[in-house]
Amino acid sequence: MDLELTEEQAAVRELAAGFADREIVPFAAEWDRAESIDLGIVKKLGALGFLGLTLPEEYGGSGGDHLAYCLVLEELGRGDSSVRGVVSVSLGLVAKSINAFGTEEQKRQWLPRLCSGEALACFALTEPGTGSDAANLTTRAVRDGDHWLISGSKMFITNGTWAEVALVFARTGEPGHRGVSAFLVPTDTPGFTRTPIHGKLGLRGQATAELSFDAVRVPDSARLGAEGKGFTVAMAALAKGRMSVAAGCVGIAQASLDAAVRYAGEREQFGKSIAHHQLVQELLADIAVDVAAARLLTWRVADLVDRGLPFATESSVAKLFASEAAVRSANNALQVFGGYGFIDEYPVGKYLRDARVMTLYEGTSQIHKLLIGRSLTGVNAF
Ligand SMILES: Cc1cc2nc3c(=O)[nH]c(=O)nc-3n(C[C@H](O)[C@H](O)[C@H](O)COP(=O)(O)OP(=O)(O)OC[C@H]3O[C@@H](n4cnc5c(N)ncnc54)[C@H](O)[C@@H]3O)c2cc1C
Repeated sequence: MDLELTEEQAAVRELAAGFADREIVPFAAEWDRAESIDLGIVKKLGALGFLGLTLPEEYGGSGGDHLAYCLVLEELGRGDSSVRGVVSVSLGLVAKSINAFGTEEQKRQWLPRLCSGEALACFALTEPGTGSDAANLTTRAVRDGDHWLISGSKMFITNGTWAEVALVFARTGEPGHRGVSAFLVPTDTPGFTRTPIHGKLGLRGQATAELSFDAVRVPDSARLGAEGKGFTVAMAALAKGRMSVAAGCVGIAQASLDAAVRYAGEREQFGKSIAHHQLVQELLADIAVDVAAARLLTWRVADLVDRGLPFATESSVAKLFASEAAVRSANNALQVFGGYGFIDEYPVGKYLRDARVMTLYEGTSQIHKLLIGRSLTGVNAF
């Protein structure tokens, strides 16, 4: 079913699959119950090069192309979406932005530590009052000599309480997207507080936090990209970020398929395994089609990125389809498990809970339909 992979891509996929099977799958249920993954896994991800994929070796990166990156994220997502999220955000949204928009000093300051897993990063765009309408954010950065004072708050920030650096988007000028700048803010800066958000439906192993800034003082050298160009940084990060969410969704759908096929072969009803019942096969076939389609749409984006071609709309297409497919697949798998799918002795309930957020973050499904519609018609229907 797969396209032909290069030797390097096949090797990194195998490495990630083995890592997921040994270091993630056996612990995922426990981390879900404990509401935290074991953070020891971060250094292991760094040691394998998974936190530096696609980044230059001179900054501690491990090179590789975006297809290799997607293969790794799929395998991590197959193991546990909370672990996959660590990489998607710290590497995908922040380290890659530093590499693309940072000064030499910013790259040397942050990239080696982010690539090795000595430090994690978070991406702070969403606010309590602005989610989909991110361009209207109200967190402010005001000039104070050659420094900035940042005040405001951010909501639902992945890696929030684990990160040593936050990529913070704040208003420095006019209303709308042209008045936004980006800053790399160490999380131990005075005035920066972080509050964990508990009671999530899924991604329970992830540190999701509310951040608040009370006149947090950073030097102008902490600004990432030009003043007033912060929204460009955010949108560039999210365009690729959506590809990584899509890859994680393929992982959830594949895990759902594996679990459902295994169970269908074991569980007997009416004197034969339930795999013999046509309507159970229909559920399995529907999952398999979703997995294959979501994977190919995701790989298409990686291929476009690697060839230096435009990919933003294709990234929306992949993210929209793969996230909805992950929810459908986990739900179909749960149906195959019958009542046993409803208790946490089996992993499918967790797959469904974890999948559910995928249609919400990095652009809701509705927002992606509007982005795709705008690209088709030239009409902005937001
Ligand atoms: C677990 C988790 C982790 C997250 N991690 C991060 C992170 O690391 N960094 C970060 O910055 N953010 C993060 N987010 C925030 C996430 O990106 C937002 O929740 C998302 O953008 C939606 O914003 P909102 O929740 O405010 O919903 P709203 O924007 O209020 O949307 C509510 C509903 O209205 C719909 N809607 C809104 N506008 C339109 C429109 N124009 N047309 C049609 N429908 C519309 C939406 O689709 C949705 O159904 C995370 C969220 C969660 C739940």
